[in-house]
Amino acid sequence: MAQETFKKHLETLAEDYDIVALDRALEVLDGKSRPSRDIAVITFDDGYRDVYDHAFPVMRDMKVPGIVYVPSAFTGTNRRIAHDRLWSALVRMKDRRLGPVSVGVPGRFESMLIDAWEGAETPNKVLENLISNNPTPVLYDLAAVLEDRLGLSENDGPAGQLAMSWEMLREMGSHGIETGAHTAEHTVLTNQPLDEARREIAQCKSVLEKGVGRPVRHFAYCNGWYSAGVAQALKGEGFVSAATTEDLPNLPGVDPFALKRKVLWENSSAGILGVYSKAVTACTLNDTLGTLALTRPVLGARPTYFGTSSDRAQKSATAAHG
Ligand SMILES: [Zn+2]
Repeated sequence: MAQETFKKHLETLAEDYDIVALDRALEVLDGKSRPSRDIAVITFDDGYRDVYDHAFPVMRDMKVPGIVYVPSAFTGTNRRIAHDRLWSALVRMKDRRLGPVSVGVPGRFESMLIDAWEGAETPNKVLENLISNNPTPVLYDLAAVLEDRLGLSENDGPAGQLAMSWEMLREMGSHGIETGAHTAEHTVLTNQPLDEARREIAQCKSVLEKGVGRPVRHFAYCNGWYSAGVAQALKGEGFVSAATTEDLPNLPGVDPFALKRKVLWENSSAGILGVYSKAVTACTLNDTLGTLALTRPVLGARPTYFGTSSDRAQKSATAAHG
């Protein structure tokens, strides 16, 4: 999204909503206080440098608070998140007209790719299938194997897609844009045994708190997927809220571990002439599109994966023997 579009989104939002910090919004949702107008919270996922370069200056100038949900293992490094690396690899495969078999990766990765290609017309859909159907650590293995085959490097990618530094997070924090957690390795926790999920939740919280020097009490689910078991693990580690990617408004009484979010893109504001339209932005924000059933939210609730890492080790040992 262009910086100018982002600024206009904020200006439109501020006409009808008070833009507040997440803690304040949680008080309202909990019924502890009643605001005179509807309220909104600005959130960003993944901790990309783009947010610091483009969104932060606008928010600082307008004195708008917000939260960035950061996967802790990437901050201050030039590592890239699995889905970004896989995206680069899938686009390169498409350019070279390579398929799941012709790309020439070892058997278990070939099987993953064949499954992901099933019924998928675009790299986007292939990526969605890969993320949905595999544990996140395996996606990093697949990304490394594909990069090797395709002559790509883990660190190749747009500069804005690099992670922010700790200094950047601290600077934003001092202007009311706090740091929330988004796992350590950008892990889809519902695809992990619960004990592994719990370990990663504890790890990202302590690393982020040490890095930014403030408490980190809010979380966003990777891929928007959550379960009762994951929410319970978050509470156990001291988190007080967690955000999904369910495209719905939040009403008082909403479960603070299943907060909804409206997603805005450059095109969210494109009116009939393809230029910025305040009316269309307002519709997206107040959920007119959802109410008219023009959009249907994808819900993120999943069953709790109660298995443990030792079950899985056992299962793969059995598979290796069988
Ligand atoms: Zn994410």
